Amino acid sequence: MRPTVRWLQQLEHSAHRVKSTSFIGLGRMGSEMAYNLFSKQYTQSEEYRFVICDALPESANAFRHNFLTQFPGANLKIVDTPAEAALASNAIVTMLPSSPHVKQVYSESIIPTLSKLPPQDITQTLCIDSTTLDVDIARAVANEVRNAGAQMVDAPVSGGVAGAKAGTLSFLVGGTEQSFNLSQPILSLMGQRIIHCGPSGAGLGAKICNNLVLGVQQIVVAEAMLLGQKLGLDPAVLAAVVNSSTGGCWASSVNNPVPGSLPDKSPPCERDYNGGFVTALMLKDMGLATDIAKKHSSPLPLGEAAEALYASSIRDQPELAARDFSSIYKYLRTKT
Ligand code: NAD
Repeated sequence: MRPTVRWLQQLEHSAHRVKSTSFIGLGRMGSEMAYNLFSKQYTQSEEYRFVICDALPESANAFRHNFLTQFPGANLKIVDTPAEAALASNAIVTMLPSSPHVKQVYSESIIPTLSKLPPQDITQTLCIDSTTLDVDIARAVANEVRNAGAQMVDAPVSGGVAGAKAGTLSFLVGGTEQSFNLSQPILSLMGQRIIHCGPSGAGLGAKICNNLVLGVQQIVVAEAMLLGQKLGLDPAVLAAVVNSSTGGCWASSVNNPVPGSLPDKSPPCERDYNGGFVTALMLKDMGLATDIAKKHSSPLPLGEAAEALYASSIRDQPELAARDFSSIYKYLRTKT
């Protein structure tokens, strides 16, 4: 190939990468986030190209069908591997189950691909990982991405599937000032609050600490609601007292685990704990907290106890793994 032709092709390739977004991992969260991101980018400019990749072809196909039904003119392509997704776009978003998946997708696929790109393409590439995973693994992956010449932020989310669908997620971002500034316009198309928590890994640190609080609180609310009923209290009266007193928290005022306790709300307990944030994910997050706490010699007596309790609820009643984590109340009730 003559150098001028190669150069022209490279220019064309680089130009394509600018208005192109790749999304890897179209599960419960990723499919909603990608839908918001792509539809808003497409509304900004119909020239945008969208590239999607999922280990399950049916997830990618379902997304494409859904998106193209709404935006028939959109340029949306399914690729088989994260490497192809990395080749296509300057902006790469990943939303994967956990640490091993992120390690594999980045170390075996995205990073080796970035290393083969022309330098101007590498420096313009931004990777956003919204997975909840181990802080140290996320930092190591971000280092590898930076060493390849691209930018990366960890941007785990708070707000669940409902927030992902509504585009109201909170993103907790870890990375340099420069990478945060690059990620903000993209994240703001999927969420409402974009918080720069600090350097690489800080977003995940904040996410894990928040979910540690939440996981412990949901258990103690379940304990108190159970004890109160044994003492003869009406759950709606007890919930109203706690929620207007010092014990009030999200777990009692929004996600109260006792049916009928929040007459003007509809928490997952009203649907036999279907919907919401599943116990299996809460157990995963408690595990991330206890692991990182051990590494940093930070005491976690309540966190460890909470992790053990969520684990035994799933072991004894496997169906609770896929129910909202407030079903810990249902589990504790069987212990009375
Ligand atoms: P999910 O299991 O529904 O989706 C993950 C997707 O990644 C799946 O479609 C899977 O096929 C795909 N995938 C796995 N390995 C892959 C690979 N190598 N290449 C391409 N695709 C691959 O999970 P989710 O509920 O969407 O959660 C995603 C992340 O968000 C998790 O880290 C979770 O802890 C976090 N999170 C979830 C919620 C929630 O309510 N579901 C809330 C906050 C944070």
